[in-house]
Amino acid sequence: MVMEKYIAKPLSFQSLNGISEKTLEIHHGKLYQGYVNKTNEILERLAEADFTSANQIYSGAGELKRQFSFAWNGVVLHEGYFESLGGDGQIKDGNLKKAIEEKFGSIEKWKEDFLASGLAARGWVVLAYDFNSHGLQNYSCDIHNQGGIWGTAPIIVLDVYEHAYFIDFGADRKSYIETYFKNLNWQRLEKKFNKIKVEP
Ligand code: FE
Repeated sequence: MVMEKYIAKPLSFQSLNGISEKTLEIHHGKLYQGYVNKTNEILERLAEADFTSANQIYSGAGELKRQFSFAWNGVVLHEGYFESLGGDGQIKDGNLKKAIEEKFGSIEKWKEDFLASGLAARGWVVLAYDFNSHGLQNYSCDIHNQGGIWGTAPIIVLDVYEHAYFIDFGADRKSYIETYFKNLNWQRLEKKFNKIKVEP
């Protein structure tokens, strides 16, 4: 497998409104960095792995492949999460707003669905563009490498693991998600959506 050593992306904002620096320091500086480190470690080990012993029950190569999907998805999802934040939560007119309204009826209805998905999930909620149906959908998954849909691109990503909010909100996940909405960077999300979106 050929992949250059991956370098962690820095945060694109100084601070958030209602999500503390301590949470960000742990979440970005320790946990996200940990996924980057493990991704690189697995890639190094894969380069030297013994594929002649590959086996569905247990093999070193099999475990490296399996855990690579966990580590790398951990990187991708966390980057999507941090990239979603750093704004004032005010949505402007644009293609993303239009596409959300087309799919969900209104921004408020999208938020209701996204919030409920966040309360129900054990890991992640993702508003993704689906290249299969050429439309938006809120997906939720319980673990990084299970529940994602092939052929979708994440646009807005929410981390609902306790480490994302417990210091600031205790067990009040609903308040965390409402605060998350207030920090969405819609200008960046609009740019991301315009790069991703492909006409059928
Ligand atoms: Fe996280």
